[in-house]
Amino acid sequence: MIGNGLVGVRTPTWIAIGLGLFACIFAQAAPAADCPGHPDALGTARTLVVDPREHPRIGTMQYAETLPLQDHEVVLTFDDGPLPRNSNQVLDILASQCVKATFFIIGRMAKAYPEGVRKLHDAGHSIGTHSQDHPLGMNRMPVERARQEIDDGIASVKSALGDDAAPAPFFRIPGLSRAEAVEDYLASQGIQTWSADFPADDWRHVSAARVYDLAMQRLEEKGKGILLLHDIQARTVAALPRILHELKARGYRIVHVVPATSELAATPTEAPQWQLHPPSETVAISHWPKIPNFVFADAGTLAAPSLSDLDWRDGQSLTLAESSDRARRGVPLPRQALWPRQSPLPPDVATALPVPAQNVFEIREGLRAVMQAGAPSSRRAELTVPAHDEAISTDAGSSRRTLRGEPHPGRLRQAADRGNRHAAHGRRGALKHLVQVRKRSV
Ligand SMILES: [Zn+2]
Repeated sequence: MIGNGLVGVRTPTWIAIGLGLFACIFAQAAPAADCPGHPDALGTARTLVVDPREHPRIGTMQYAETLPLQDHEVVLTFDDGPLPRNSNQVLDILASQCVKATFFIIGRMAKAYPEGVRKLHDAGHSIGTHSQDHPLGMNRMPVERARQEIDDGIASVKSALGDDAAPAPFFRIPGLSRAEAVEDYLASQGIQTWSADFPADDWRHVSAARVYDLAMQRLEEKGKGILLLHDIQARTVAALPRILHELKARGYRIVHVVPATSELAATPTEAPQWQLHPPSETVAISHWPKIPNFVFADAGTLAAPSLSDLDWRDGQSLTLAESSDRARRGVPLPRQALWPRQSPLPPDVATALPVPAQNVFEIREGLRAVMQAGAPSSRRAELTVPAHDEAISTDAGSSRRTLRGEPHPGRLRQAADRGNRHAAHGRRGALKHLVQVRKRSV
């Protein structure tokens, strides 16, 4: 309903604006030499007629395409007006240089200062819209409300212009808070969404000199493009004469953009011209190719692999209940890691091992006596161990320090500890210790 209303309103007015523009475009696109009283004026080099339906989104700050400008061509745009105190000065400065620009009007401002909108239009500038109340969260609000902002802004500007004119189908989203739903709606209405190629930060608390510096510096970096300014800002008014003067001095040319109508055909262009720097066979591409966007929307339709597909033997032991969580995710996993696996020894290797000799298990008579007497107390265990340590040292003739005569305090504590442990294990502990002693003496 909103869309039908828009189309119904726009159709006759485009004819009117087309006739008006047709009559004055070529006169307004005055080269500098034709600027009365200002022979050294910057002037407007040419008028570019665009069809919003063919190129619905422009401005490389956010979109792939921008206006089909030649090198050193600039399009001036001014947002948020009109505010008579400053906007009228901007009008005078532009007029002094015979420069034509595009103004993106806020509906609320058009309601407050309708004569300001008419002044802009009568001076031959293009009039786009910028929403009704300039909400900065258009990308977060319900699309119905965004539509209302767009429609109300257009209606307010149209009302300010009167019956014989209408705003151009150019829209700039407040704060450049782009949203696909908003852009889609604009495109469906035949309205072109304008971003920009570079701003001059004139809405920030910076000096006019800074606005000038940023405008020229960013333009120099890109070589051409759409400059975003704000005619309601005093710093922009202060910076604008110097910007225009410098544009002229550096050989830049101003392009005025108007919409195509049934009476005014779009300027013929080729698709690559709508890129800021189209690829060329003579210029090496210095950036990496973009990472493709993967679409996961259909991932849910993929069949989950079965365990037999994976050839995981351990997976067979998974019960349905255990694997339900994994199955929900479509990726059944084995309960145990697949590797490392222990490979069984070949049977012939196992049988080839030698049978231990009987004397390995022999216990000497002295030790047997101790075993038979048993060693239930920690004290007995403590005494037993040093006795055999001493014997070992003698038998082996090694350099091991023994406890003969003067037992080392640390060894005694270790022995006591061992004794405590042996007490806990009873006779079995003592036997184990003796067997270890026997092994060392071999
Ligand atoms: Zn704005």
